[in-house]
Amino acid sequence: MEEELMQIKNSAVSMIIEATDQKELEEIKLQFLGRSGKLTLTLKEIVKVPVERRAAVGQLANEVKRVIEETIKNHESRIKNQESKTKIEKIDVTNPGIKPDIGRLHPLTQVLYEVVDIFKQIGFQVADGPEIETDHYNFEVLNIHKDHPARDTQQTLYLDTRGSKSDPGKIILRTHGSNMQGRIMETTRPPVRAIYPGKVFRYEQVDVSHGFEFWQLEGLAVDKNLTLTDLFGTMSYVIKEFFGLDTKVKFVSHNFPFTEPSAETYMSCTVCKGKGCSFCKHSGWVEILGCGMIHPNVLKAVGYDSQKVSGFAWGMGFSRMVTLKYQMDDLRLLTNPDLRILEQF
Ligand SMILES: [Zn+2]
Repeated sequence: MEEELMQIKNSAVSMIIEATDQKELEEIKLQFLGRSGKLTLTLKEIVKVPVERRAAVGQLANEVKRVIEETIKNHESRIKNQESKTKIEKIDVTNPGIKPDIGRLHPLTQVLYEVVDIFKQIGFQVADGPEIETDHYNFEVLNIHKDHPARDTQQTLYLDTRGSKSDPGKIILRTHGSNMQGRIMETTRPPVRAIYPGKVFRYEQVDVSHGFEFWQLEGLAVDKNLTLTDLFGTMSYVIKEFFGLDTKVKFVSHNFPFTEPSAETYMSCTVCKGKGCSFCKHSGWVEILGCGMIHPNVLKAVGYDSQKVSGFAWGMGFSRMVTLKYQMDDLRLLTNPDLRILEQF
């Protein structure tokens, strides 16, 4: 009898641990523990065992039953675990996939490419230059000598040059893209047509229309017989190409130390189309760039003969062009890395 019980236990356990699903396990359970199961039938035979051994056999039978039940329980939870894992790993290939986020160009870069293309079509080359600049190229070459009042209008950031070979106050962050005028003209003989977009820096209080770093797109052209009409024609052409042919452009006399004569350039407001709104301070016009004929002193400073050649130069508030194009009311949005803003472009 004891031997029979041990055989039942062994065969039950080996069958249980090989079972692969719940259904199979139920069948095994029925086969051993069911009403006419092997163990149940054997237990009924216990009465036939001599009395002196009956207690011991009964104990063994209970132990066998316990082991079978426990093994079934353990294996059952193992099967359940396995089933849930398999469910997770199952891939339905007919499901639509997860769309990856697609990167795109920053609005500044998009507009930059667009404007650069317009200038390229009329023969301008693109130049790049240093953001850390010397006082010489940022001011001196441009007829803005030491103590010139125009320096006050450009809140300059000076670099701490202690411990370096540079003289104190001579190394700055460029306050305008015009630092490239001297650099280009010194190394190029006329005729020259170049644009130089880039970041400039000023010590400004940051608000919706001012930043301490912003983009400018400056440029120049030097050739024989260039006149103010060439400058106005070029500026009008670029503005209309970029903002639309129905954009109105006007030039208002101004003063810059490095150009003579000089003009501020305004275009009709892109938001209200010239009718007047808060964006244009109800004037219908927004300032877009400053320009003028290059001052003879600047031409002389770079070694050009101001009697033989003339030229014009301009500086566009490039960040402003972007805000005007997309009708943004806050310049700071252009330097905000928030994807909720950037995803709109
Ligand atoms: Zn307006």
